[in-house]
Amino acid sequence: MRELGIIRHGAMIVEDGILRATGTRTEIEPLIPREAEVLDAGGRVILPGFVDAHTHAVFAGHRANEFEMRIAGASYQEIAASGGGIRSTVRLTRAATEDELFQSASHRLPWFLAGGTTTLEIKSGYGLSLEDECKMLRVIRRLRESTPLDIVATFLGAHEVPDEYRHAPQEYLRVVIEEMIPTVARENLAEYCDVFCEDHVFTVEQAREVLTAARRHGLRARVHADQLANTGGAAMAAQVGAATADHLEHIDDDGIAALGDSEVQPILLPASVYALGLRRYPPARQMIDAELAVVVASDFNPGSSPVPSMPLIISLACTQMRMTPAEAITAATVNAAHSLDRSKETGSLEPGKYANFTIFDAADYREIAYWAGAPLTWRVYIRGRLTYRAGLAM
Ligand SMILES: [Zn+2]
Repeated sequence: MRELGIIRHGAMIVEDGILRATGTRTEIEPLIPREAEVLDAGGRVILPGFVDAHTHAVFAGHRANEFEMRIAGASYQEIAASGGGIRSTVRLTRAATEDELFQSASHRLPWFLAGGTTTLEIKSGYGLSLEDECKMLRVIRRLRESTPLDIVATFLGAHEVPDEYRHAPQEYLRVVIEEMIPTVARENLAEYCDVFCEDHVFTVEQAREVLTAARRHGLRARVHADQLANTGGAAMAAQVGAATADHLEHIDDDGIAALGDSEVQPILLPASVYALGLRRYPPARQMIDAELAVVVASDFNPGSSPVPSMPLIISLACTQMRMTPAEAITAATVNAAHSLDRSKETGSLEPGKYANFTIFDAADYREIAYWAGAPLTWRVYIRGRLTYRAGLAM
């Protein structure tokens, strides 16, 4: 993860949205077609577009009030118990029309571009009924069809037990397994299925049931696991052959060993620790030492992580999880692309992949982690097309 394959005085040729050649300027110059348009990046750093592999970017409203309550001392669990948290976003999201959700999400997409993100995973999970989960997934499909970002949809019907099933969570699970998953699969509304596996939400056994059903319908698994307590979610992810286990603030040695014996990639979400004002970050160093293909992502959502910026995630990965800038960039690009089954298309600057890249106003890639919060994104290209330039989204 520390080997970025940096090309100094580099150049590349892009044709029809695809990277045709990369190398040093001396190697590339003779290959440039006469009619080509030449862009001089002026010695700036060019990286593959970031792949943000874990977001909840479609929702209604915001929770700035809870943000202030937490500062005053309320815990995330206390806020949830008083009817706030995910359930307040569920109420607003259910009340919103498909068009309203599309408009509010579209308004936020330039925030991701401004950080150099070119591929975005988005989960449902604020509908919690067949109708409202499908509404969210149709919004995600519309975003994919109408914006330049590459967007991957994940069904997260088992995000929380909705109020009307509060006293019968097992009945809600039946709805997820027998109604929602078959419909989502039949209508091709998602590639992945995720579950919030946590104390007081869904147990390891319930999560296993959901993910096993999802697999029967052709949806691959991702899991929210071991975030607020160790429940053995990572080991379960390994047993069901999930693509990823996400969060993992409370993973233990057995959990790391289970991931090591599997193909499951850990996705670490440092902004949710940061924004909740918590102290315990996932043990990234231990996972990298165990040779796991670690991913970092934003977990962008209106409650625990109102953070769309991948450069800020990379900075947190470095300062709070002791990843090197190179490791954090690998985790945000090629490793993240692999976790979404997109590594043949994006995540690195290699001939044959999409020309998804970001030019940073920096001379050294480490500056992206170092100037925390600074707007270094100079230009973003997706499939070879200029999609963002500093201060102006197109
Ligand atoms: Zn999440």
